[in-house]
Amino acid sequence: MRTYKLNNGLEMPRLGLGVWQSENGKETIDAIHWALEAGYRHVDTAKAYRNEEAVGEAIRTAGLPREEVWLTTKVWNDDIRAGRTTEALDNSLKRLKLDYVDQVLLHWPVEGRVAAWQELEKALEAGKVRSIGVSNFMDDHIEEIIEAGSVLPVVNQIEYHPYLTQADAISACDAHDIAITAWSPLMQGHFLKEPLFAEIGERYGKTAAQVVLRWCLQNDVIVIPKSVHRKRIIENGDLFDFELSEEDMVAIDELERGKRFGPDPRNFDF
Ligand code: NAD
Repeated sequence: MRTYKLNNGLEMPRLGLGVWQSENGKETIDAIHWALEAGYRHVDTAKAYRNEEAVGEAIRTAGLPREEVWLTTKVWNDDIRAGRTTEALDNSLKRLKLDYVDQVLLHWPVEGRVAAWQELEKALEAGKVRSIGVSNFMDDHIEEIIEAGSVLPVVNQIEYHPYLTQADAISACDAHDIAITAWSPLMQGHFLKEPLFAEIGERYGKTAAQVVLRWCLQNDVIVIPKSVHRKRIIENGDLFDFELSEEDMVAIDELERGKRFGPDPRNFDF
């Protein structure tokens, strides 16, 4: 349950710390160190989060062998559009001060994505990255990459939570054994407004956040909840000592309403 065997054979930790909107300094370094102390072995950043320096420093100073911590970063849209994916990855590695990352994703399905994918394939061959994937790709984007590329994406990182389960994107990924990572698994904090999670949690001695994250895991989805608070980081990582019943899983499934908290990949302009 704790790692997901990707379609290239690598084992990716099913729980990671998201660091979007975490500042490029002590805030991010502390959060990552607390997460690693609590047993997380995976951090999710991006060039666009402007905190790769702090992420790299946190990983380098954590006191764990580099190979024990999974790190994902992403190529931003302007680099994809401009045909600068290789340069963008090299610059991420410089900011991180690391020799390789475990995963690089194309952040959004913008113009130039097929050529960018082919650049990622070369980076994989060169050993700068151990696995390559995509983010916010819908079913037709997935098919396009598979047709044009020679390496399958290992992961599609998409917005996913009880209000938004993206059946079309997921079935395209399932057909090619592409794993799903959920961004905003905690609905950017909106889970607190939905009483069902706390009600279910009470029966297991678990919090509402733990119920939502556990529901993702039991749907075979990798989670990267964000927090910079030690207590919440520990809480969000304490997911492996209980199992939601089928009945509770179904009750949460019924909350689906196609509601996004982030931009729609079919209609965004950044
Ligand atoms: P999230 O769903 O993880 O929610 C985080 C927010 O929930 C926190 O800021 C806090 O307000 C609240 N929270 C967290 N733990 C809590 C707890 N235990 N109790 C109460 N409140 C709690 O939101 P997110 O940051 O949007 O998503 C997670 C990660 O996904 C990001 O940090 C980033 O790494 C990634 N992401 C990727 C994309 C993409 O386009 N690929 C987009 C958005 C986010």
